[in-house]
Amino acid sequence: MQSSASTINDHPPGSLYDKLRPIAEARMMLKEIGIDPFGTAMENILSPTEAIIHGRHTILVGTNNYLGLTFDADAIAAAHAALDALGTGTTGSRMANGSFTLHRQLEIDLAEFYGVRDCILFSTGYLANLGVLSALGGAQDVIILDADCHASIYDGCKLGGAEVIRFRHNDPQDLDKRLRRLKARAHNAVIVVEGLYSMLGDIAPLAEIVAVKQRYGSCLVVDEAHSLGLYGATGRGVAQAQDCEAGVDFTVGTFSKSLGATGGFCVSQHAELDLIRYASRPYIFTASPVPSVVASTRVTLQKLAVGTHLRENLFARAAQLHAGLQTIGYQPSAAVSPVIAITIKGRLNALNFWNKLLQAGAYCNLVLPPATPSGDPLLRISLSAAHTAEQIDAVLDMFARLHSDYVNANSQG
Ligand code: PMP
Repeated sequence: MQSSASTINDHPPGSLYDKLRPIAEARMMLKEIGIDPFGTAMENILSPTEAIIHGRHTILVGTNNYLGLTFDADAIAAAHAALDALGTGTTGSRMANGSFTLHRQLEIDLAEFYGVRDCILFSTGYLANLGVLSALGGAQDVIILDADCHASIYDGCKLGGAEVIRFRHNDPQDLDKRLRRLKARAHNAVIVVEGLYSMLGDIAPLAEIVAVKQRYGSCLVVDEAHSLGLYGATGRGVAQAQDCEAGVDFTVGTFSKSLGATGGFCVSQHAELDLIRYASRPYIFTASPVPSVVASTRVTLQKLAVGTHLRENLFARAAQLHAGLQTIGYQPSAAVSPVIAITIKGRLNALNFWNKLLQAGAYCNLVLPPATPSGDPLLRISLSAAHTAEQIDAVLDMFARLHSDYVNANSQG
């Protein structure tokens, strides 16, 4: 009997599935070498920094769990209470199927936390960028974005149909040049940057970018997905740390990192934010965040706001790892931050290195081109306030044992 399951090779060239052929080949290569960094299953989660992977105890250094709040007892209790009181799901969008009071409460919490007029919740950070950028940047508009911006920012631009211009990563002068060329259109241009960039762990010169934006009267959107809870006196992000929040028009963020859940938001001082709610397809046409997630996020947001001790521990561990890697002979891609990236040249070298590190007992992220800014594969590490100094020492020990692999990979071609 013929099996109904077909593979891509069963289809003749020119078929609908042709576009998936490069992916099929890459998947086959991973299958042949027996390494699958993109399907790693955590069989059990022991804490914010430890899991069982392939039956082994593993230190997690690739979770984005920056403040280590995923097991916070108060957040878990709030999530349980919301489950009991309000059920498992919202079963629809706020506009079509109704809001829960809890949604509005978290919006008010976030607006108060940022000291601004209003907030819109989205079901993920990805959807927050899609919703805000598609509503702000219509077909007649220009969006100027940092070349290293996240995929959700690019996708949001596509959804709205704006003309997209990229400026050189973290280069306010290049931004200035491109705005100047726009002449009168610069006034309505939307500039989009991030606070902490997620791949290399470098930080935007936001105060300088704000100064450029103000010269042209443009609109500035800052995605603080990775910087929320990490930078600034109360953890509002890089704009707070660089004392330029007044120059930011819209701040986008996520619950999926320092807040330990899933969901996204946009906050702003502008009254127009509320209109974006009604213009935003990714708000209108998808189910709203579930009650347990909203409830736990209200708690973790409070902890984040007073979490100076968490930020101190996070940066102490980041400094420890960054310095330790340099002492061994690694070259991190940027200055100290909770994201530390190491370039490993060659896909196979990078896959093997990542796998050896996992076998040694540490899980980090493998990022392959085209998802990397430099075009070379990256090992991406993210630290957590929940990491102990001993865990970081253990990870450094693993990196020390693999140093010759790094040297060999990076000395080839
Ligand atoms: N913005 C940036 C800069 C991100 O890195 C990410 C996710 N990694 C997102 C937005 C999307 O966030 P979420 O996981 O909440 O969809």
